[in-house]
Amino acid sequence: MGTNKTNTTLTKERAAVDRIDRELVKLLAERMDAVQQIGGYKAENADAPLMDAGRERVVAESWADAARGHGLSTYFAGRVLREILNWSRRDQERRLDRPEADPERRIRVGFQGTPASYSDLAARKMIEARLGVDVASTEEPGEQTRPKATRHGYRTFVDALDALERDEIEYALMPIENTIAGSINEVYTLLAEREVCVVDEEVWAVEHVLCALPGIGLDAIRTVRSQAIALQQCRRFLDGLPGVVAESTFDTAGAARSLLDGGDSYASAICSEEAAREFGLDVIRRDIADQRHNMTRFLLIARRPEPIDSRLPAKTSLVLTLNHRRGALAMCLQAFADRDINLSKIESRPRPEAPWEYLFYIDVDGSLDAPEVQEALDRVRPLTNRLKVLGTYPRRAGDDIAPTPAVDAPAPAAIPTEKPAPAAACPATPRNPQLKNVNPRPDGARTTVNVGRASIGPESFTLIAGPCAVESRHQIFEAAAMVKDHGAVILRGGAFKPRSSVYAFQGLGHEGVQLLCEAGHAYELPVVTEVVRPEDVGEVALHADMLQIGARSMQNFGLLTRVGQTDRPVLLKRGLSATIDELLSAAEYIMAAGNHRVVLCERGIRTFETATRNTLDVSAVPVLKERTHLPVIVDPSHAAGRTELVLPLALAAAAVGADGLIVEAHPNPENALCDKDQALAPDDLARLVARLRPIVAARAETD
Ligand code: PEP
Ligand code: MN
Repeated sequence: MGTNKTNTTLTKERAAVDRIDRELVKLLAERMDAVQQIGGYKAENADAPLMDAGRERVVAESWADAARGHGLSTYFAGRVLREILNWSRRDQERRLDRPEADPERRIRVGFQGTPASYSDLAARKMIEARLGVDVASTEEPGEQTRPKATRHGYRTFVDALDALERDEIEYALMPIENTIAGSINEVYTLLAEREVCVVDEEVWAVEHVLCALPGIGLDAIRTVRSQAIALQQCRRFLDGLPGVVAESTFDTAGAARSLLDGGDSYASAICSEEAAREFGLDVIRRDIADQRHNMTRFLLIARRPEPIDSRLPAKTSLVLTLNHRRGALAMCLQAFADRDINLSKIESRPRPEAPWEYLFYIDVDGSLDAPEVQEALDRVRPLTNRLKVLGTYPRRAGDDIAPTPAVDAPAPAAIPTEKPAPAAACPATPRNPQLKNVNPRPDGARTTVNVGRASIGPESFTLIAGPCAVESRHQIFEAAAMVKDHGAVILRGGAFKPRSSVYAFQGLGHEGVQLLCEAGHAYELPVVTEVVRPEDVGEVALHADMLQIGARSMQNFGLLTRVGQTDRPVLLKRGLSATIDELLSAAEYIMAAGNHRVVLCERGIRTFETATRNTLDVSAVPVLKERTHLPVIVDPSHAAGRTELVLPLALAAAAVGADGLIVEAHPNPENALCDKDQALAPDDLARLVARLRPIVAARAETD
C-alpha cells in the first residue's frame, strides 16, 4: 500500500475511533446520571443497602454475556466494569450525609509534593470522588473563577499539617504506607502528636513509566531522574541501561518537570503516566518497576471527625501505649478477637522520649459507633497508658484490587463450599514422627495456601491452567487471556523445562519467567512456574507467585531446601515412581526449612500400563488428605498425555475430592513446542469447565 493510501486509511479509522470515544463518554455520563438517581433513593431510604453484591453479580454476568456475544474478552469487559462500579459506588456515597453536601463549602486540600506527584494524583482522585467535580490545582488559575475545590502542594508533611491547623486548608492528604517501602513513619508520628483526625482513605496503584522530551528514544537517553525510592523500585530496568546515570530528585513529578528546563535533552524521568502527560512528555517505557504490585495507602486528615453512613464498611485507626502489665498486648488483641473484630494492621514504633517503650498503631474493621467496637475499646482502655482514636472512616484498601466481579460466575473457582470445611476427625492413620510439619493437625483443620489473590484449600476448587512452556510474549499473553476467560485463577507456564531429551526445547529461562509474570500481571492472574536448579530459585522467587517442583525433581533435596527458604508457596509434584510416603517426606523437607505453604500434586505415576502416558493414581487424593493437612490438587494433563483423556480424569479428580486442578492449555496446541498432544485448546477448556461445574456444585452441597 502506498504511503498516501495508508495515511488516508489511518485518518479514517482514527476519526471513527474518536467518534466512538465521544459516544462512550456520553454513555458513561448517562449511566452516571441513572446511578445518581438510585443514589438519591438510597440516601433517603436508610434501609436500602448501599452495596448490593447480588445485583453487582447480575450486572457483571450480563456484561460478560454481552462481551462474549461480541467476541470481546470477558476479562477486558469485566475490568472496565469494575472501574465503573467503583466510581458509581463513590458517587452514591457522596449523596449521603457529608459536610461537602453543603453547596457553599469550598474545599482546599493540601499534600506534600509538587503538582502531578503521586500524592497530588491521589488527592485529585479522592476529592473528585467526594465532590463529583474537577479539583483545580493552585497552579491552574483562571479556568474556574471560584473553583469548589483546590489542591495545594507543600514542601513537607509538617507544613501541610500546620496549614490544616491554621485553617488554611480543610484537608491534608498524606501517604501512610506503601506495599514495597512499608510505613511512612513520619506521618505516623505526626498523627499521634497533632490534634487532627483521619476521615477517609485512598489507595493509589503506583505505576511508574519512563518518559522524555518528545522524539527522544530509549537509545538516546543518558540520565534518568526520579525520587530516590522510585529509582530503587526500578533498579532492574535501570541496570539494563548500561552507561545511563541515575539522578535523585525531590519527587517524581519534579523530575518530569525538570526535563522542560532545557539543559539536557537526553535526560529522562521516572514518574506516573499522568505526570508525563501533564508536562507534555513522551512515555518511552511502561511497566518498569521490579515489583508488580506497588500500592500506596493515603489518609485524608481533617481537624474534626466526619460522620459516615452506617451502611458503609468502616475502619477505625487507634494509637496506644500499653501499661506494663504482663500480657497487656495479648489481652488488648483478645478484646478485639473476642468480638470477632478483624485487625487489619498493627505496627509498633519506638518512643524516642521513653526508651524501650512502644507506640502501637492499630487498624480494626468496624466503625467507632458500632457497639462491639465500643465494648472492645472499654476493655482495652484499662490496659493502656494512652489511647487515642485517630478516626473512623470508610474502608477502601482492597477496593481497587478486588477480583473482577465473577464474570464467569459460577466458575469452578468461584463456587464456595456452603458449609465450613469439614474438620475430619483425627484420622486413625499412624502419625509418622518424621513428618512433624506434614502430619494432620490435631483438630483435623485443613490448610489453605494463598497464591497472590487466589487460594488453594477446602473452601474452593481452584483451576490452574496455561501452556506447558512459555514460548513467546505473544503465545503467553494469548494463553493468559484464554485461561482467564475460562475461569482459571492461576496461570501456569514453564520457563525452565526438565526435558528427557537434551535436544528438546529447554524453555526460555529467566526471560520466560519475566514474560509469564508480565502476562499474569496484565490479566491479574498469579503465576506458577517450575524451578529446576537451586541457584535459580532466588531470582525466580522474586517474580513468580508460586514455585513448582516438577516430578523429576521431587527428591532433589538441595532444591527442596532452597525453595523452603523462600516465602513463595510451592507446588510439589509427585515423582514418577515416588510412593506417597516419599512425596510427604519431600514436603517435610520444604516445611522444615521454614516454608509452610506447600500444595501437593498427583500427576500420574509410572506403572506397567502404556496406554496412557502415566497412570493417574486417583486414590492418592483421599490417602493424602488422610495423611496431611496440606491441600492436594491433580494434574490430569501429564497423567493422561492425550487431550481427550484430560477431561474425564479431571472430572474424576474433582469427584474424588481434589482441591483443584492444574491443566495444560495452549491457544494453538498444534504449534505447541512442548507436550502438544495433551494440551487443551480453548474449546476443550470451555468444555472442561462446563463439565466440572455440576460436580463442584454437588461437592459443595454434600461436604
Ligand atoms: C510440568 O508441569 O510442566 C511438568 C514438567 O510436569 P511434571 O513435572 O509433572 O512432569
Ligand atoms: Mn508439560
